Amino acid sequence: MKKRFAALDDFRLIAAVLVVAIHTSPLTCWNPEADFWFTRVFARVAVPFFFMSSGYFLARKGWQGIGRFIRHALLLYGISILLYLPLNLYADSFPLVELPKKLCFDGTFYHLWYLPAVVIGVLIARGLYQLGLFPALAVSGLLYLIGLGGDSYFGLIDTVPVLRQIYDGLFLIFSYTRNGIFFAPFFLLLGAAVRRRDIRFSGIGFWIALALMSIEAFSLHGQQVQRHDSMYLLLPLVMFFLFSCLLSLNTAQNHTARGLSMLVYLVHPWCIVLVRMAAKLLHLENLLIENSFGHFAAVLASSFAVAGILQLFRPMPVHPAARAWREIDSHALWHNAAMLQQQAGKGCTLMAVVKADAYGHGAVSVAKCLQKAGVRAFAVASLAEGIILRKKGIRGIILILGYTMPAEAGLLARWRLTQTVVDETHAQALSAQGYPLRVHLALDTGMHRLGIPAYDFAALQRIYALPNLKIEGVFSHLCMADSLSPNATAYTGTQMDAFYETIDQMYEHGLAPGKVHLQASYGILNLPAQPCDFLRAGIALYGVYSDTKPVAAPLDLLPVLSLRARVGTVRRLAAGQSAGYGCAFTAQRDSVLAVAAIGYADGLPREMAAYGAKVLIHGQFAPVVGWVCMDQMLIDATGIDGICSGDIVTLIGQDGNQVIHAETLAEQCGTITNELLSRLGSRLGIVVK
Ligand SMILES: *Cc1c(COP(=O)(O)O)cnc(C)c1O
Repeated sequence: MKKRFAALDDFRLIAAVLVVAIHTSPLTCWNPEADFWFTRVFARVAVPFFFMSSGYFLARKGWQGIGRFIRHALLLYGISILLYLPLNLYADSFPLVELPKKLCFDGTFYHLWYLPAVVIGVLIARGLYQLGLFPALAVSGLLYLIGLGGDSYFGLIDTVPVLRQIYDGLFLIFSYTRNGIFFAPFFLLLGAAVRRRDIRFSGIGFWIALALMSIEAFSLHGQQVQRHDSMYLLLPLVMFFLFSCLLSLNTAQNHTARGLSMLVYLVHPWCIVLVRMAAKLLHLENLLIENSFGHFAAVLASSFAVAGILQLFRPMPVHPAARAWREIDSHALWHNAAMLQQQAGKGCTLMAVVKADAYGHGAVSVAKCLQKAGVRAFAVASLAEGIILRKKGIRGIILILGYTMPAEAGLLARWRLTQTVVDETHAQALSAQGYPLRVHLALDTGMHRLGIPAYDFAALQRIYALPNLKIEGVFSHLCMADSLSPNATAYTGTQMDAFYETIDQMYEHGLAPGKVHLQASYGILNLPAQPCDFLRAGIALYGVYSDTKPVAAPLDLLPVLSLRARVGTVRRLAAGQSAGYGCAFTAQRDSVLAVAAIGYADGLPREMAAYGAKVLIHGQFAPVVGWVCMDQMLIDATGIDGICSGDIVTLIGQDGNQVIHAETLAEQCGTITNELLSRLGSRLGIVVK
């Protein structure tokens, strides 16, 4: 299948050249009328074109990317403001009263009006789009007509005093009607509306419309009614034909053109200044300033050169879904956090356990997402995990649930991490480092893994007497809470008794425990609400159960993670041919083999095929075959139509009407979801939805 790309990318370069022409008037020394036509009529297609392509792409994605688009535009605007600040200061063109007007509408430098306009324009266009495309076009078209009155048709307005007063009022707010209100929305929406059409139809239409617009422009120019010359009555018609022309031309995608055109637009006014300075220094005023074509050529060449160099330094992150990735459903995460918080009851706060890279979900993404939802307590397994979160701006308590070497106490203090005291020796060594440390004491109530033995008040008293330790909490961990068997329930009962009795008696011994916490996910699913301060939830937060065993109080949890990979290549095997290491798979019939770009180094079990694991492609199940390789796996995709490289393979999650649950895959592979998920490697990209 050959994809068609419109010629939109290529035209960006032409549009960038036209914008430079507008600001350098190349033809003036040859023929001013010709220059008027070229720069004030023909070149006026450039900026509406940029608006239209933004509208076209945003609308095609259902206006999904609008937040990112606006953030990007604002970032560029911020950088550009700084970039042109020296020229503003030099020209002393920054009266403070004008600042709001300049920032919101005119731009802080003459060409920068485009960036605030595209932000305001996109917001207005999106708002109007709620009415439906055609009503939106009608309203924004009306705004455009009003804009015309402040632009090329100002002379007509001038003859009606009331209107003149109204426009004078408007010009107090912005200097031109060519802005985010009257100009941008209409072209953005026009971009959303234009479809590919017969190339001859749109080509002829373009030239006729351009001829008519030229007549319009020259007659307005002749009568000297223009206040500014950006907006013509016929410009939208010209743009309509031009854009549908570009849509029907087939070319390759041109990423370079995208970045380069924007950079040329941003830097060319600086290049104008630099060319003038250079001309004076080199005594080349005749060639580089007076000769308008020489001037244009020098500015154009230097703008493209600077843009080309800057392009080399543009951040070019790898697309997270380029090979294999984890898709994180933030709404599911919020939902689960809310469900757990509700179940924990008042007075007990959710502590999100994000150890092991948030059980393979990506700790930074998950913690940021939960922080947005108001979660202020996190737990990790190691010092390094805690530091990463702090560096990424995670606030609140971060409790390290495992051992940290006492010599690292300085880092615990610097990053305000709360350390678990795993036994009395650990407490003494931590204290001896001389840093004031926040700690929680682990109590061993029967798991016999970490903790000071329950009821050992002598040890507790010695720990409380140590300097430098600020004991802010006491907790224990249940090791049988995931089972409802009578044995397990009884064991959990003894653990709970030991925990609460120790806590009660600590008060009697004058040892304030601070925050107490006991339940992890299965403590919530299998036990009633507890009189605790925190609930340490891991696996349930991610919307999955450890396995398929029943629980006492199932919660309506939503799985957070989907695991997907690209098909790298598709190949045919004749019956009897084999594939993969050890030729472990032999085709029993003529088969189609899809090679997915994910392997055991990404965390999948090597024996998946032997366990009968399946994946989803195009919404249909297909078995994994052969040994899973380090970076690839083989899938028998026989019978699934139209698979090509780049297609998406789903290993966990939904595709079409089918779903693969993490619990199923974990069970097939003889483990629990906790292990399966937490092994997902850092090589996998993360896409947060
Ligand atoms: C991992 C861990 C948790 C979270 O357990 P889940 O069963 O995933 O909720 C809670 N507490 C401690 C001490 C842990 O090590």
